[in-house]
Amino acid sequence: MNPSRDRLRIAVQKSGRLSEASLDLLRRAGLSFRASRDKLFLYGENLPVDVLLVRDDDIPGLLLEGSCELGMVGRNVLDEQRLAGAGAVSPQVCTALGFGQCRLAIAMPAELPWDGPASLAGRRIATSYPGLLGQWLREHGIEAEVVVLNGSVEIAPRLGKAEAVCDLVSTGATLAANQLREVETVLESVAVLAQSPRPLPPALAGIGDSLVARIRGVLGGDGARLLMLRAPRSALAEIARLLPAREAPSVLRLDDAPDQVALQALCGRSLDWQHLEALKRLGAHGLMVLNVEQVLA
Ligand code: ATP
Ligand code: ZN
Repeated sequence: MNPSRDRLRIAVQKSGRLSEASLDLLRRAGLSFRASRDKLFLYGENLPVDVLLVRDDDIPGLLLEGSCELGMVGRNVLDEQRLAGAGAVSPQVCTALGFGQCRLAIAMPAELPWDGPASLAGRRIATSYPGLLGQWLREHGIEAEVVVLNGSVEIAPRLGKAEAVCDLVSTGATLAANQLREVETVLESVAVLAQSPRPLPPALAGIGDSLVARIRGVLGGDGARLLMLRAPRSALAEIARLLPAREAPSVLRLDDAPDQVALQALCGRSLDWQHLEALKRLGAHGLMVLNVEQVLA
């Protein structure tokens, strides 16, 4: 690592399924940036943070060697490279990011019999994830041949290269189009914010903490709503029980009406009309629901 570096680097996928959502999250965390001429970097204009645009597979390695302090990458890529790597250290997950949901799943041609994992014994399974698949096979005590392919895994059965595949799936449409039936889930994945295992140089530590806190703040605000209402003091306990609140509500005394209180509660996205109607039945009035932009814990 370059000890003189005074700008934090965060790696995101250059072009692919995670790119838009990664950059959008950074923007919502308050970072504005402009592209370098070669389109490899985005320079942070209002924070000492630069965004490195790379292939997603390169992100764990960049974090390991300390070329980047943070990265946004699928858990699938991170876990696969951790299993492939010989070293004991690997990037650490700071938080899941709420996009890039998919699963690493095993699928078989619909016409082949399926009677549980034992049906894979002796079969050839095509995958780009030999580490994760190998681990799953060991855990299930199954001996099968892992055929490593770097792309177009789903057509391997039709090409006669394998009888089964282990590939990323989100809707399942690609599997269906290839007459494959999903039979087992090897890993549930989501994009994560990962951090270099190397200690951050002192000049970057504060920037890193603040960026991670901001990203958590944006995620924490996702779908959150602030509920405000007035209610009889006697109904408080029942109201608190009913609310999908993330933390105990704040209760304010009203000087001009001692038997009434004003209440504020930070609720999850599940707060709906039925909650509001039930609150009204408990005597609540003046109900107001506001969308929450950011939460800084
Ligand atoms: P790169 O050129 O960066 O190597 P790639 O082809 O490996 O791109 P993408 O297809 O853009 O990568 O997928 C990036 C990540 O998006 C995956 O590693 C996974 O975490 C996530 N993802 C979400 N849904 C899917 C899906 N249906 N298929 C593949 N990946 C998915
Ligand atoms: Zn990739």
